[in-house]
Amino acid sequence: MKDVIVIGGGLAGLVNAILLKRAGLSVTLFEEKKYPFHRVCGEYISNEVVPFLKKNDLYPEELKPSQITQFHLSSIAGNSLRMSLDLGGFGISRYRLDEWLAQKAKAEGVEIIHERIVKSSFHKEVFTLESKTGEQHLSKLTIGAFGKRSALDKNLKRTFLKKRSPYLGVKYHIKTGEVDTDEIALHNFKGGYCGVSRVEGEVYNLCYLSHRSGLKKHGSIPKMEQELLAQNPYLKKIFSQSEILFDKPEVINEITFEKKEPVFDHMLMSGDSAGMITPLCGNGMAMAIHAAKILSELIVENLAEGFNRAKLENDYKSLWDDLFASRLWRGRKIQKLFGSSMISESTVTLGKRFKPFANYLMKQTHGTPF
Ligand SMILES: Cc1cc2nc3c(=O)[nH]c(=O)nc-3n(C[C@H](O)[C@H](O)[C@H](O)COP(=O)(O)OP(=O)(O)OC[C@H]3O[C@@H](n4cnc5c(N)ncnc54)[C@H](O)[C@@H]3O)c2cc1C
Repeated sequence: MKDVIVIGGGLAGLVNAILLKRAGLSVTLFEEKKYPFHRVCGEYISNEVVPFLKKNDLYPEELKPSQITQFHLSSIAGNSLRMSLDLGGFGISRYRLDEWLAQKAKAEGVEIIHERIVKSSFHKEVFTLESKTGEQHLSKLTIGAFGKRSALDKNLKRTFLKKRSPYLGVKYHIKTGEVDTDEIALHNFKGGYCGVSRVEGEVYNLCYLSHRSGLKKHGSIPKMEQELLAQNPYLKKIFSQSEILFDKPEVINEITFEKKEPVFDHMLMSGDSAGMITPLCGNGMAMAIHAAKILSELIVENLAEGFNRAKLENDYKSLWDDLFASRLWRGRKIQKLFGSSMISESTVTLGKRFKPFANYLMKQTHGTPF
């Protein structure tokens, strides 16, 4: 039996696995896909994570992340605002970053198994996890780090699935001269917003969140981009003047921002499995890393004190709520300011005329360095 099984090898899962292995526990991580792979994500990481990553030798310096210090926001009609980011961030593709972390995890002794976990049950203090091949794996603790939406959520009958979500996410890598190397652009369109920023070298990430009504109305992703996103003059230029590096976009449906449980059926949830912040805030990855840090620290502390599962679950729930619950709520509220012509126009105009308002909005979505 393993001390810890981690389900999902995104940022939350990999960071949890590395920290717990370093603390001397036996750790197996299940990731259904094979690294490296692309995933829908804006790939801009808030600098709030830098002290933690550097302290733990997890900052991917050798991958040469881009440094992002400027913000460019535009309304649907193309009214735009530029400002410096107070904290800033770095750009790095998940294709490279996740693979780099997985290699680190393996080198430190984490067992990584590329299989999907389809069932989980908890009985007499032991988790039994069943993989797609029918094999059973036992653990004392299980960390659920399986992202925004997984078939496992369905199997666990998690309540957030009861409500359908109208959002889809689309991502490409592109080469473009339309976005500065040190800026993150956030361009609005009806029913959504599109972020563009540099990742490694000359490669930029273009990623957008859209209401599904846009896709329904325009019939296909290319048509939606030509007829809906391109109503914003900045997006029109980006789509027409850039080289798209993917054969087809990465797409995900039903992206939900509903409240979730940080602990469910004794499984300790980390990253998006515990709760997802709206992408516009640009710090879901920072939150996933931060959640992994606090969860791993609590596990190590609790085990050192003799192990009390109820205390561990309660401590994690309350720390998670203290750190993240209000940020998620603010992210949902601020997202409502975008995607509608009138509201996005007045937000940009107000931000341009009254810089403290723009700074205030920005601060609402960001955490502090840890
Ligand atoms: C459109 C969009 C844009 C975004 N832009 C940004 C941004 O610019 N900056 C930012 O900080 N955040 C952004 N985010 C959010 C960010 O992508 C997530 O918050 C972050 O990836 C969460 O990491 P995670 O480890 O929790 O989940 P993930 O990275 O999603 O990893 C979960 C992993 O679990 C695996 N998995 C799932 N089910 C199983 C199973 N049953 N068995 C085994 N493996 C399983 C999956 O294959 C996956 O690899 C964006 C999100 C969206 C939707």
